[in-house]
Amino acid sequence: MKIKTARLYRQSQPFADGPYICRGQTEDGFDSCIVALEAEDGTIGWGEAAPLGAFYAEAFPEAMRAGIERLLPVTIGLSATAPDRLADALNHAMLGQPAVKSAIDMAAWDLAARVMDSPLSDLLGGADGDSVPLYRSIGQADPDAMAQKAQDYVRRGYRRLQVKVGADPLEDVERLKAVRAAVPNDVPLYADANGGWLLEDGLRFVDRTRDIDYWLEQPCMAYADNRTIAQRCAKPMVLDEGLVTLADLLRAHQDGVISGATLKIARIGGIGPTRLMRDIAVSLGLKVTIEDTGGSTINTAATAHMMLSTPKAHRAHTVDFMNWVTVQNATGMPATAEGMLFGPSGPGLGITVDPDLFLQ
Ligand SMILES: [Mg+2]
Repeated sequence: MKIKTARLYRQSQPFADGPYICRGQTEDGFDSCIVALEAEDGTIGWGEAAPLGAFYAEAFPEAMRAGIERLLPVTIGLSATAPDRLADALNHAMLGQPAVKSAIDMAAWDLAARVMDSPLSDLLGGADGDSVPLYRSIGQADPDAMAQKAQDYVRRGYRRLQVKVGADPLEDVERLKAVRAAVPNDVPLYADANGGWLLEDGLRFVDRTRDIDYWLEQPCMAYADNRTIAQRCAKPMVLDEGLVTLADLLRAHQDGVISGATLKIARIGGIGPTRLMRDIAVSLGLKVTIEDTGGSTINTAATAHMMLSTPKAHRAHTVDFMNWVTVQNATGMPATAEGMLFGPSGPGLGITVDPDLFLQ
C-alpha cells in the first residue's frame, strides 16, 4: 500500500501556566506543525513537531513549515509501511534539517503501525509496563517564586522537577537551593542550564552546590566545556542540546561525560533516528529521557510510545506537553495521574486525531 496524500496543518498552542522563560528568552506558547500522511485505503498517520520559538533549537516555525511543504511531495507514492525507507527519501531530498523531517517521520511511523494494526510501541520493541514518570520544568524566576511553583507541581502529583538555571551562576545557586529546600528529599532535581552558561559560570555553580543533591543537565553549549565541568564535578551529568547525532552520544559516553541522555525527537529528526540513539544509549548503560521541543496531544502520544518501549531500568522521565498547553489535537490519551504518563491503546499512536481541534 502506498501513500496517496500528504498535508500540513498549523496549531497555535498557548502555555497553560503562563510564559516560559529559558536562556533569558520568553515564549507564550508553541506554534506547532502537524503532518498527515494518508494511505490508499484511507488510513492516516499523524506527526507533530513544534520548536520553542526561534532561540531554543536550530529550528523556527516559519522555516519548519517551509521545509515540510517542500518535502511532503517526496512522500507521495512511497510505501505506507516502510518508515525507514521514507526517511531515506527525505534525507536524499534534503541535507540535514532534522527538525523539518521530524513530524513527517513521526507520521510515517504512525501510518505504518496503523496499517499493521499494531501499537507504535510494538514496532519500537514493545512496551515495558504502561506508565512513565513525568517531570515538570520550573522556568527562571526569583528563587522564592520558583520554590512556590515547585511546591505547586509536587501538590499536583509531579515527583521529578527540572530547575532552569543557565543565567547568573550565583543567582542560579540560590534558585537551586530554594527549590531543594521547598520539596521533599525524594523529589529528584535536575539543574538544567540548557547550555546557557560559559565555562566559568558552570565551574562556579558546581563549586558552590557540592552539598546539594541534584543532577546537572547541559551546563554549557560547547562540548569541550561540558567535558571540563564533568571532570571537576561529582554530580551525574545529562546532555540534551548537545546530542544531535549518534556520534555526539558515543563521544560523550566514551569521554565519561554523561550518565544520561535527553533525546528530543524533533532535534534528532523523528521516531526512527531517535529510536536508534535510544537503543544504543540503553546498550551503553545510560538513563534515557525521550521528549521533544513542543507540541500537544499527538506529540505526547509519540513520546509515550518511545518511552514505554525503552526498558524501565533505563528510563529517566519525560514531559506531558498536552498538559503544558491550553489546546489539544487528539482524543484518546489517558489522563496523567500521580506524576505518571500512561500510554494510549489501539493501533499506531493509539489516539484519534481531530482536525476540528486545530482547523479554526
Ligand atoms: Mg534539558
